[in-house]
Amino acid sequence: MIHEPPPPTLRLDVDIEALAANWRTLDTMSGPARTGAAVKANCYGLGVDICLPALRDAGAQDFFVAHWSEVEAALAHVPAKQISVLHGANSPAEVAYAKATGVRPVINSLHQARLWNESGGRACHLMVDTGINRLGIRPEDVGDPAIAALEIEVLMSHLSSADEDSDSNSAQQRALRELGNKIDAKSLSLANSAGIALGEDFVFDLTRPGIALYGGVPRPELEGRIRQVAFLRASLIQVADLVAGDRVGYNALFTADRAMRVGTVSLGYADGFLRSWGSKGNALVHEDRALPVLGKVSMDMIVVDLSEAPELQVGDWLEVPYALPRAAAASGLSQYELLTILGQRLRH
Ligand SMILES: *Cc1c(COP(=O)(O)O)cnc(C)c1O
Repeated sequence: MIHEPPPPTLRLDVDIEALAANWRTLDTMSGPARTGAAVKANCYGLGVDICLPALRDAGAQDFFVAHWSEVEAALAHVPAKQISVLHGANSPAEVAYAKATGVRPVINSLHQARLWNESGGRACHLMVDTGINRLGIRPEDVGDPAIAALEIEVLMSHLSSADEDSDSNSAQQRALRELGNKIDAKSLSLANSAGIALGEDFVFDLTRPGIALYGGVPRPELEGRIRQVAFLRASLIQVADLVAGDRVGYNALFTADRAMRVGTVSLGYADGFLRSWGSKGNALVHEDRALPVLGKVSMDMIVVDLSEAPELQVGDWLEVPYALPRAAAASGLSQYELLTILGQRLRH
């Protein structure tokens, strides 16, 4: 018989109450607009099977993934018509899959519009690029017959600099409003998380928050209103006493200047704790006591200074400080990257 594996030594805890509370906060800030949810990249790394039902139960009805490969996991929780694929349908195979499932493509180009029309059309969304120059039809192409033939539910655009006070925000906002007068669409959508914080001119009919649902704070207006969702914990797998002169880790980058107690933690760069964390005086935490990381981060391990918590033993748990704004400042990674790099071994 196959035995159950023993309990893990590394954990990602997703606070789904905080996730639901963040959605409700963003929904309130979205005013009269409907509030959707970006659930791409496995809900920003936190797990679609955990997060999507919580967002659905909180009240979200519009879910955005990037790839067709992400559709099946979302379909396990919500009806097809609530799911949109941001990359759109570029090939006959993608169009056929959209038709078969009933999931909406976000049409991004005249090529995609023609393919969709040739396949018989039906409800879709349209992305117009108003300045990010990344994905979407150009505003001057909205008069094309392929666009006129679409049955557009949501006409959307995406802000390039919503996390900054940039003139491009209002320029993009005006551009979408003008396009809304030219294109026949049921609703308009512009704002990501940061866009919601820009205020009522930006929310239109539907907002598309992602990072702030999962605990990110992309603008100061959201400070104190968004709760941490991802909690990272790892346990000690060895404790040891070093003497002055002992070195720690690959390339011996840390040398003990005194006798000290250290602990080896079951967490490494394969889990998303990148080497950049090791080099900047970062610490793990045990009951509010900071335990500095010593030397280089290995694939599966880091070593921490246990001077502040000498009672700790193998099996005791430490917390990785993962409040996203502070963790981003400490690591040099973006709040988005901090979530999407979390490794497979954290998921049980
Ligand atoms: C990822 C994404 C979002 C969500 O953005 P956040 O900054 O995470 O809130 C919204 N719209 C589009 C088109 C996206 O690609």
